[in-house]
Parts: sequence; C-alpha cells; structure tokens
Amino acid sequence: MSESRVAFFDGRLMPLKDANVNIATHAFNYGTGVFEGLRAYWNQDQEELYIVQAHPHFARLLRSARVLHIEVPYTVEELVSHTVDMLRANEFRQDVYIRPLAYKAEAAIKVGLSGLKDAFSMFAVPMGDYVPTKGIRVAVSSWRRIADNMIPSRAKVTGAYINAALSSDQARADGYDEAIMLGEDGHVSEASSANLFMVRGGVLVTPPVTADILEGVTRQVVFDLASELNVPVEVRAIDRTELYSAEELFLCGTGVQLAGVVSVDRRAVGDGQPGPITTAIQKKYYDICHGVSDTGRRYVTPVYHP
Ligand code: PMP
Repeated sequence: MSESRVAFFDGRLMPLKDANVNIATHAFNYGTGVFEGLRAYWNQDQEELYIVQAHPHFARLLRSARVLHIEVPYTVEELVSHTVDMLRANEFRQDVYIRPLAYKAEAAIKVGLSGLKDAFSMFAVPMGDYVPTKGIRVAVSSWRRIADNMIPSRAKVTGAYINAALSSDQARADGYDEAIMLGEDGHVSEASSANLFMVRGGVLVTPPVTADILEGVTRQVVFDLASELNVPVEVRAIDRTELYSAEELFLCGTGVQLAGVVSVDRRAVGDGQPGPITTAIQKKYYDICHGVSDTGRRYVTPVYHP
C-alpha cells in the first residue's frame, strides 16, 4: 500500500493507511456490506483520467444497499463528486480501480440487518488487466451461482463473493483462466465476476436478469454497442452445451473488461480465436473507456478537466 494514498472514510478524505475498521465490525464478521468496482482509464495524450459509467455504478450501489437495509448518506451525484475529489487527491496518472463500500459498521454480535450503524468508504488502487483480454480458456464450474432467494444475486454483497472466489479458485487450480457458473436450474448464469455473451447464428445472446446474474453495467454498454454495430441481440436462457457450439463467446465486466473466450471445457470456441463481433465490440468498448470515442462521451466522467 502506497504511504501517500488517499481514501474517503468517515465522510472525508484521509490517508488510506489510517482508514481502518475494528475487528468487532458487523460487516467483517457477517459479510454485511455492499460494494462496487469502477475503473478509471488514463489517456496520456489528453492528460485526462476517465471514470467509466460512474452514475450507473453508484445507482447500483444504492440499489444493493437498499436490499441490505444499509443507509448511504449520499446521492449518486454526491458519490460521483467524492470519487472525482479522491482521484484528484491521489494525482493518479495511470489506470485505476475504484472500490466504494457501504456496510454495517456497528461493533455488535447480532445476526440481522436493522438497527445497526452504517458506514460508507472508498479507495482506489492502480490496476491493469485482471484477466488476459486476448483469449481466455474457461470451464463450467461445479459450484453453482448463488440464487436470488439465498443471497440476492442482483445486489453486489461482500459476503456473496465467497461463491465467486470458490469457483474462480477452482478454475485456476485446474489450469483455466475463469469459471462459468450455472444457476440452480442448470442454465448458464455468468462467470465468477463477469457477465457472458455468446454468438449463435450471428445473434448475440445473453442470459436474462432473472438468471441470478449481477445486472452488469458493462452488459448494458454491450447492448448499446451491439445496436451501433447492427448486431441483433437476444436475451434468453442458455444451455451449457450451447457454449460448446457457439461461434463466439466473451465475458464482460468492469474488472475483466471485454475478454474473448477461446475455449470452454477444452472445446474450442469457433476457430479458437476471438471472433469478429467480439473484436469489434471490444474495440468500441476500449475507445469509450479511454475517452477517444466521440459518441462514447456519455459513458465517461473526466477527472481533471471537467
Ligand atoms: N457479475 C459479477 C458477479 C460481478 O462481480 C461483476 C463485476 N462487478 C459483473 C458480473 C460485471 O458487472 P459490471 O459490468 O457492472 O462490472
């Protein structure tokens, strides 16, 4: 941890090294927090740092918080503004990952959600690619994706990431880059921390929001980009073995960005290279993130020259 890094904690900017919580904190004991993951990309030519999809990410944070009865004392606008201030205070001139957290802060032994003090905090760290984006090999996990009636899958709950950790850990130990998780009904849900799209018959297909997915911010951008490219999109349940006969497959998410999948359970996807639709969407996505897409301005918030 860099000594000079600045976090947002207790309603103000302060050194990250001093932004600590007590071991009796409810969220530490029970996983009762919700969080977000945003990226900001550095554009050297423009000397600008662009936060990608700041508003949708913070809107989702507030929706997640509502599920867990967590009060966040800020509006989406205020959260974006605190993020800009924090990134400026850090003087970042590189790609970074931003982690806001809203959580049950009470020092209490009590299983429950109500009547407990809440807190909000945020920090950012430099981050490059999280998985290779040029072609990853995935496996269908023996771990099932959490179901909405067990731990709400559309809320980004800290404790729920045990499910993602188990599946991605298993996939990596077995020599794969990522895990695909099936829902309780046996249909494809998503990857351990990314949504999934496949191309079949020239149509881009992704599971519906009722398939226990996290309703991804990047997934929504992919819908827009597919429409710009005149690629038809279908939202429907996907069978496991459809993945074996897909022409193309990719994962999307803030962390993984847009990652083409070249094999599933050791069966090549298409000709074993990221396909043309994946590559075209990927290029458009990266242009948006780096602030070089005129039509993509609405997706980014500039940090230094608003
Ligand atoms: N699913 C899960 C389980 C995730 O953790 C993420 C990453 N936040 C995603 C999907 C992709 O969501 P987004 O595009 O909003 O980052």
